[in-house]
Amino acid sequence: MDSLESLTEFVADLPGEEGRLMRCMSKAHGVMDRDIAQGLEEQIERRNNPLACQSGCAVCCQNRAIAILSSEIEAISWYVVNRVDGAAKERLIERLKVQHNSRICPFVIDDVCQIYPVRPLACRAVHIFGEPCMAGEDVLAKRPGDVWYPGIDTAKAVSMEVLSWYGIDDPEEKVKAFEAEFLIEKTGSMQDHDWGVLVALMSK
Ligand code: SF4
Ligand code: SF4
Repeated sequence: MDSLESLTEFVADLPGEEGRLMRCMSKAHGVMDRDIAQGLEEQIERRNNPLACQSGCAVCCQNRAIAILSSEIEAISWYVVNRVDGAAKERLIERLKVQHNSRICPFVIDDVCQIYPVRPLACRAVHIFGEPCMAGEDVLAKRPGDVWYPGIDTAKAVSMEVLSWYGIDDPEEKVKAFEAEFLIEKTGSMQDHDWGVLVALMSK
């Protein structure tokens, strides 16, 4: 599977609108991941309890609504069509076919995110300290102090990259769009999205 770095390199010269999309989203993901790495370093130093999130821990992929931008749907679609192949692709097609009406994210298989480098910003942002999430646990309600995610500065910096995809390039217009919550209007739910079009594209 690609890392964000290798994917960023791959899309650097990708032509057309696909290239523009993937470069915008790779930049946005890069900003988010950089700020999270810095923020987590500070949090780990400050707190007495350890970071619970780790590879193979995927309860959060199975019991919470995942917010997703329309640009993220497009980026994920491009990624699975162009960068996932072989057995992984076949398993993902079968997984996406049975998604309807499930709270489980359609991209988690055997507790592994199949789209890790292009996973949504919402997935990248949230981190839990102390005990890992338990099945069905609403961590935010039950132990909000254990939840950490980056602040408004990161949201703004990430939005500046994403807004370019929506044709907003002027820096002042970007700030206005951010303050007017332009991207909220472009946000839906990972689980409620109909991934049937993607299954058809992957099956060609
Ligand atoms: S959010 Fe919860 S379930 Fe997800 S990786 Fe972190 S501890 Fe594990
Ligand atoms: S996109 Fe990946 S990280 Fe996000 S909920 Fe789905 S499987 Fe989990």
